[in-house]
Amino acid sequence: MNAKQELLSSLPSVDEVLKSPYGEDWLRTYPRRYVLSAVREVIGLKRKKILEGTAPVTSVEDLAPDIEVSVKRLSSFSLRQVINATGIVIHTNLGRSVLSERVMENVRRVAVGYSNLEYDLESGKRGKRYVHIKRLLREITGAEDGFAVNNNAAAVLLCLSTLAKGREVIVSRGELVEIGGSFRVPDVMGNSGAVLKEVGTTNKTHGYDYESAVSDATALILKVHQSNYRVIGFTEDVPLEMLVAFGHGRDIPVMYDWGSGCLIDLKPHRIYSEPTIQEILRSGVDIVTFSGDKLLGGPQAGLIVGKRELIDRIERNPLTRAVRIDKLTLAALEATLREYLDEEKVRENIPTLGMLLENPASIKARAKKIAALLRRYVTDASIALIEDRSQSGGGSLPEMEFKTYAVSIRPEKISVNRLEEKLRKCEPPIVARIQENALIIDPRTITTEQVPLVVKGVKEALR
Ligand SMILES: *Cc1c(COP(=O)(O)O)cnc(C)c1O
Repeated sequence: MNAKQELLSSLPSVDEVLKSPYGEDWLRTYPRRYVLSAVREVIGLKRKKILEGTAPVTSVEDLAPDIEVSVKRLSSFSLRQVINATGIVIHTNLGRSVLSERVMENVRRVAVGYSNLEYDLESGKRGKRYVHIKRLLREITGAEDGFAVNNNAAAVLLCLSTLAKGREVIVSRGELVEIGGSFRVPDVMGNSGAVLKEVGTTNKTHGYDYESAVSDATALILKVHQSNYRVIGFTEDVPLEMLVAFGHGRDIPVMYDWGSGCLIDLKPHRIYSEPTIQEILRSGVDIVTFSGDKLLGGPQAGLIVGKRELIDRIERNPLTRAVRIDKLTLAALEATLREYLDEEKVRENIPTLGMLLENPASIKARAKKIAALLRRYVTDASIALIEDRSQSGGGSLPEMEFKTYAVSIRPEKISVNRLEEKLRKCEPPIVARIQENALIIDPRTITTEQVPLVVKGVKEALR
């Protein structure tokens, strides 16, 4: 036997590895299928190396570290928590709103047991899932009635399908927007079976544009929040109150897709110039739709509030069943809405609002801490504390930029793109942005508990 054959025959078999203390430990911790794949993969690689003449040692101990890495990689969850170092609070790609522990406790209570989801405990009869949020929606928004579906895109689709299928919906050309993630007003309209009747121009739409578009085929007037897009300069649109007066004078209901929505008045925080839901409803608008996971700070959902008679019709549309909200989301939504009963504390209790409204001085304290720790532990990069701006994200508050303090990292031995990539691939993954050849860590969206993880991630990525 030559040396290679000797080495090959000394390679442990899959069975031997599995029966070793390492193997037993892996089988206790990881799915059997992944342990097997990892063991086979590593033995296969070793065999190849022996044949190439580059693998001197072959005991189970020698193979264990590689198997461990491989089985961990195979077994890790696909959907997992990441650290958002972008400072973008409502980051659609990173899951939009973060839920509080209190909200999650309620989700847990509902999820691990049976619930009265569609069961009326008073009468002992079948009930409706929407009752669990109806009173809260009335109390918080002041609307006559309301309910929730899977997301705001579904809410808009459902309302259009119910109120305008086969008939015309008048929308200003300035509001035919596309919102990130392929929500396009004309496409949603097409899918609902309603016919889009565009009026005005991109920058200007007047009352008389609506006037000349009305016909017997008109079923609805729709106003759409422009979300992450603005027309500035020589512009004009018809205010909601005027549209409502116009529509009601002709027996046409008026709907407002409010997009991000926001149930607290942000004017005292001097960051929001738009009307509150109470002001919007005071205009007499018939239906308002908005997202659950944007400024509301709850789970993915689409809320529909407005006149009872219309809400009733929308709820009875068979399509409602196809876009209905699931019980876990409903539990999260009820708990989120409850936080709004206490206006004083809502900012503390809803993470999205807390992060958006955080005082720059307290963000600065976290930034300083991160910068100081990095300066202590890393040598191959220049670290600076900078004043910067964060965005709210999610198409909300587009013209608002929030003053923040961030840590800027300029690596000296690797490129900034390489650093960004390594952070994305570390555990837990850290997502940060690149700005002018530096990596920016914005602590607005990083909790105090995550600070050491960020420091550790950067330290290891630069090594
Ligand atoms: C975000 C948004 C939507 C889509 O809402 P989802 O909850 O993401 O489905 C629709 N309309 C407007 C104006 C929006 O801003």
